[in-house]
Amino acid sequence: MSNYKTINPATGELIREFGALADSEVEGVLARSGQAYNRWRRESVERRASVLARAAELFEERTEELAAVLTEEIGKTLAAARGEIKTVIGIFRYYSTTAVKQLDGEELDVAGPGRARLRLDPIGPLVGIMPWNFPYYQVARFAAPNLLLGNVIILKHASNCPQSAVMFESLLRDAGLPEDAYINVFASHDQVAQMIADDRVRGVSLTGSEGAGARTGELAGRHLKPVVLELGGSDPFIVLEDADIEKAAKDAVAGRLVNNGQTCTASKRFIVVDDVYDEFVEKFVGGMSQVPTGDPTDPATVLGPLSSESAVKDLEEFVADAVANGANVETGGERLEGPGSYYPATVLTGVTETARAYREELFGPVAVVYRVPDEQTAIELANDSPFGLSSSVYTSDVDRAERISAELEAGMVWVNSVSKSSAELPFGGVKRSGVGRELGEVGLTQFANQKLVRVF
Ligand code: NDP
Repeated sequence: MSNYKTINPATGELIREFGALADSEVEGVLARSGQAYNRWRRESVERRASVLARAAELFEERTEELAAVLTEEIGKTLAAARGEIKTVIGIFRYYSTTAVKQLDGEELDVAGPGRARLRLDPIGPLVGIMPWNFPYYQVARFAAPNLLLGNVIILKHASNCPQSAVMFESLLRDAGLPEDAYINVFASHDQVAQMIADDRVRGVSLTGSEGAGARTGELAGRHLKPVVLELGGSDPFIVLEDADIEKAAKDAVAGRLVNNGQTCTASKRFIVVDDVYDEFVEKFVGGMSQVPTGDPTDPATVLGPLSSESAVKDLEEFVADAVANGANVETGGERLEGPGSYYPATVLTGVTETARAYREELFGPVAVVYRVPDEQTAIELANDSPFGLSSSVYTSDVDRAERISAELEAGMVWVNSVSKSSAELPFGGVKRSGVGRELGEVGLTQFANQKLVRVF
């Protein structure tokens, strides 16, 4: 029986199941992908870019249909689903226009006569392993730059968003991508491991949990394949005494609850200096306690269900553990009654170092607020995490923010804003948040053969 199924998290109803890839089909997938690579890499850059441009148009035309699937499959609110698709359109547009000139390669300064150029060439079939939280966006930021480059893709999506996986693949086909240049597989973890080990596969990209990242990175290392890992985060949100507290508290609510709280770059640890702590907490808790929660298809809803029952159970355990270790629940803290996987917007204060919530990632609408005496302690607490994905700093002094940004162990720093993703801006983290970068110019280099050509 396949694990690939849609269960509507707003109702608990099983909507659709999909057949699993048979072991006997793995070789065929690898062979088709290898053959597709030999054709796709020889297509002109203009042709490859035109497929991406058409994909952007199709995402635009099909927005409502694609968004409805996200809401049904993972409980994303309709507004958030449309927002995700807008970002995806931006990514396909960026890699079909602005990024194309990067493929010309860079002229290098040489010591001696002649000239040298660094070409960007493809490397071959890639395996992508993607999560359910942004089913189109996560795939787009891997697929768009690599298809432009001339690489081809075998994509293993999360088992709880198979309809989104199928829709992405068929949209690319409709955009003119040759059939085997992107193959969606409902594969098991063992089958994916077999593909990564195969000589025809030349790289692997995973977005997901630390555990899956470590296992995939280990496999890639054993088989000497380049790897990009976008993993978890426990992003700090620092509020200094000179910040606009009204705005900070409003952004904090939005930053914590983005995608029903299930976002790697959601703001998760709110670190507030003493002078403004009480004012911030009052406004933040006020905002979190009034968030419209419920049916993700209702346009008024801000917080929909979590993606699954197990996600609710995980959060319940985190909160119980935090309370047992001395934390206070300022609002929320109990799952909502009735069908569906609902957990309310929750704020914890007084979380101690012994609680799991101090170190681990809370993948749902639970915020932790810390009181600190000053800027230096705020930076130290922000860095006291195994993760280093994104971060936010709220202050009216931009020079101060720049200084602090140099001290933060994070892949991204947002000043007076929560973290957002945009096609032209590099995305990725340090420490246990992963390896490599996606999007922007750097996104095109992760699986490129940066080939030196020296001419005399
Ligand atoms: P997982 O890491 O379990 O799943 C992500 C993807 O990896 C899925 O496609 C999953 O497949 C696959 N996968 C998991 N283990 C393996 C394996 N051994 N071999 C091959 N594929 C594997 O993530 P969760 O669903 O548990 O998501 C929650 C966590 O993921 C969060 O706590 C967060 O830290 C992290 N995350 C990070 C994101 C980011 O952008 N950095 C985005 C989303 C999540 P299958 O579904 O079949 O198990």
